[in-house]
Amino acid sequence: MPSQFHVKTVIVGAGIIGTSIAWHLSRAMETDILILDRSEPGGLATNAAAGILGPFNETDREGPFLDLMRASLSLYPDFVASLIEETGLSPDFVKSGILSVASSDEEEDALKKRWQWQKPIDHSIEWLSGKSARELEPHLGEEVRSAIRYPHESHVYAPRLLRALQGSISQRKISWRRGEPVTSVRENGSRGVVVTTSRGDQIFAEKVILTPGAFMGGISLPPPVMPVTPVNGQILAVRTTMRPYRHIVFYPPKGYFVPKLDGTVVIGASEDDYGFETKVTPKGMIEFLSPLKKVSPHLLEQPFHHAWSGLRPKTPDGLPIIGPHPSSPNIMVAAGHYRNGILLSPVTGAIIASLLTGKPLPVPIEPFSPKRFQSND
Ligand SMILES: Cc1cc2nc3c(=O)[nH]c(=O)nc-3n(C[C@H](O)[C@H](O)[C@H](O)COP(=O)(O)OP(=O)(O)OC[C@H]3O[C@@H](n4cnc5c(N)ncnc54)[C@H](O)[C@@H]3O)c2cc1C
Repeated sequence: MPSQFHVKTVIVGAGIIGTSIAWHLSRAMETDILILDRSEPGGLATNAAAGILGPFNETDREGPFLDLMRASLSLYPDFVASLIEETGLSPDFVKSGILSVASSDEEEDALKKRWQWQKPIDHSIEWLSGKSARELEPHLGEEVRSAIRYPHESHVYAPRLLRALQGSISQRKISWRRGEPVTSVRENGSRGVVVTTSRGDQIFAEKVILTPGAFMGGISLPPPVMPVTPVNGQILAVRTTMRPYRHIVFYPPKGYFVPKLDGTVVIGASEDDYGFETKVTPKGMIEFLSPLKKVSPHLLEQPFHHAWSGLRPKTPDGLPIIGPHPSSPNIMVAAGHYRNGILLSPVTGAIIASLLTGKPLPVPIEPFSPKRFQSND
């Protein structure tokens, strides 16, 4: 029999974005929070992520998106330290740096263009010859002829970060319901919102925060539509007996590998349009494995560990959606984080907490506002 009840704040979706918001909000204000998840929290994106925290590799221009990513990276050391103190669980945060490498004339030209606009923004970014790059990382292939080194870029183990957040918020005034999709969210006159679940339960709340990742379209909302679609990402891990690399390495066209503290090296990632299917295909793997013949032939010889895939939540302009829904200030949206949801989780949590407590925002959020989709209907 469907039930009806009241709670102050509902969060729809318990991936990295929903749990980070719950963490920030429960520290910022006295409120009771209910988190609803349709299935395994973070099962399709967060738990699939490589955990790279790399602002400069994720945009081709300076501006608000780079500022947002850099602001989030700067929050990471304190965020992680607090989680370890609260739970004893480490998300394996490593300030490894990133090497972005080139192995042909064309790749080197593209790398130089990036270096030219990025260097004035952060003077610690270095240009390296192939030889200097190999001095830092002796397993890089001989064909690597130049590299940019980003010393501040880092990584975490995304599923462990999610577990630490879950562990921390479970000590607060937060309740959970799992295995129950939210089907609609509506205004409830002047009294807030009503959230309806697949069982027909109705939850009356003052505020609802929508963080359903790629599944945004599955929830009926007031117009305009918040356009978030799934982009399948395939990725794999090899096992190594010693840590052959210290840095994360990015290589063209869109490959990377990340040496994890547990001795695995995560190699990714494809971008495929398979709808909501999370399949792993030879075609997807070849795209990012083939260039390793030049960049790191050594990695291709390591024992295969496992392969998996997940769904990145993408918006038409590639930017996240963060802020109040245009037709209801009681509905907050935090979705569409695409390739950077792990990186952006602390700043997104901090922004939503600021919006709900009226405190100053950590960064300007106008470019990420849901209002930009107002003409969608
Ligand atoms: C292969 C791959 C590699 C990646 N690598 C990186 C990386 O290196 N660095 C980085 O920053 N990001 C990376 N990402 C992106 C990152 O994983 C995502 O941006 C991020 O996890 C999105 O988090 P989320 O909480 O919005 O979504 P999710 O993790 O998908 O969580 C959404 C949650 O909402 C729940 N939900 C959905 N619909 C409903 C509903 N109707 N009712 C109730 N619950 C619902 C889901 O069950 C889920 O638990 C990668 C992604 C992939 C796939």
